[in-house]
Amino acid sequence: MLAEEIMADRDYPPFRRSARDGFAVRAADVPGELHVIGEVRAGEVFRGSVSCGGAVEIMTGAPLPECADAVAMVEHTERSGDRVKVTRSLNSGENFNAQGVEARQGSIVLSPGCKLGFAEIALLAMVGRECATVYRRPRVAIVPTGDEIVEAGQQPEPFQIRNSNAWSMAVQVAGAGGDPRILPIARDNYESTRERMEHGLTHDLLLLSGGVSAGKYDIVERVLADLGAKFFFDRVLIQPGQPLVFGTAQGKFFFGLPGNPASTMVTFEVFARAAVELLTGSHEVSLRLLQARLSQDLRQKTGLTRFLPAQVSADGSTVTPEPWQGSGDVPSLARANAFLVTEPDRESWAAGDMIRVLLK
Ligand code: AMP
Ligand code: MG
Repeated sequence: MLAEEIMADRDYPPFRRSARDGFAVRAADVPGELHVIGEVRAGEVFRGSVSCGGAVEIMTGAPLPECADAVAMVEHTERSGDRVKVTRSLNSGENFNAQGVEARQGSIVLSPGCKLGFAEIALLAMVGRECATVYRRPRVAIVPTGDEIVEAGQQPEPFQIRNSNAWSMAVQVAGAGGDPRILPIARDNYESTRERMEHGLTHDLLLLSGGVSAGKYDIVERVLADLGAKFFFDRVLIQPGQPLVFGTAQGKFFFGLPGNPASTMVTFEVFARAAVELLTGSHEVSLRLLQARLSQDLRQKTGLTRFLPAQVSADGSTVTPEPWQGSGDVPSLARANAFLVTEPDRESWAAGDMIRVLLK
């Protein structure tokens, strides 16, 4: 993410640049037969000017000779010796880019908070900036919680499950421009959770998964409160993902995301992604929402905004719910390429109705 203003070091294009291979001419002279007085290639300048009835053979990217005001495309010419017949008429200004039309010297071409994608990097190179000041990626601590959780590389007992949330969150954090740091699993006891949280709060943002529901061993909120946390909210009217906690502690923001894999993924996308993006220095946050046509009827209970795994067609026009067994169904989440987003006050949709879709 860029942290400074970038200015054009000179006009772009820096000269009147031919956009075609052909002949530099005076538009008023064509159609007609002209006298070829020379050639100009990219990387050269033609010393001289195009007089009435004259033409200079020119290549794409070469500077237009003085007094020429158009380029006849080679496809519209017939050459014989030092004569060239231009078969079509031209307007002044055709087939070349005037000096400075893309950017004027000294004008701002990139502003702080701009994400440096491939085109922006090309622009930096174009204006001669081999180095630029950027924001450091925010370090995002990821703390999984749960006595039943084992690391992905371990063989779980029949009653244990592997830690998948830390990995989905790490990919989401990286996708939002953050630098994910997965910390060891916090156990469902005060000491372990507090120790991990204190470590997590030394980062720029703390993301916890699990331990925020109403269960007897869901102690994340209590530990956060003891660490002096200020809570902005601890519940949202969406499913999956209702018990979502957001606040600050020790000068850092934190999210306590519910531990069900679908809840963790959805609450990250809808809430935490924006926080990571803002911490990267970005001024804009993205929620990849679009509208698509349902391929089948749909019924839902009202009261909550629901996010259901779904398949959006390649052209983005239609969406089909993906069969799923609820918030723990990771295979369904992996098959899906999007979530259907239902409205909380609507119970049924017919095939063909438009519905909101959150891209995965
Ligand atoms: P919790 O929010 O702690 O009540 O967890 C809700 C459900 O999510 C439980 O079935 C947990 O086993 C599961 N879960 C919690 N943390 C993880 C994790 N890191 N990876 C996969 N599943 C998890
Ligand atoms: Mg738990």
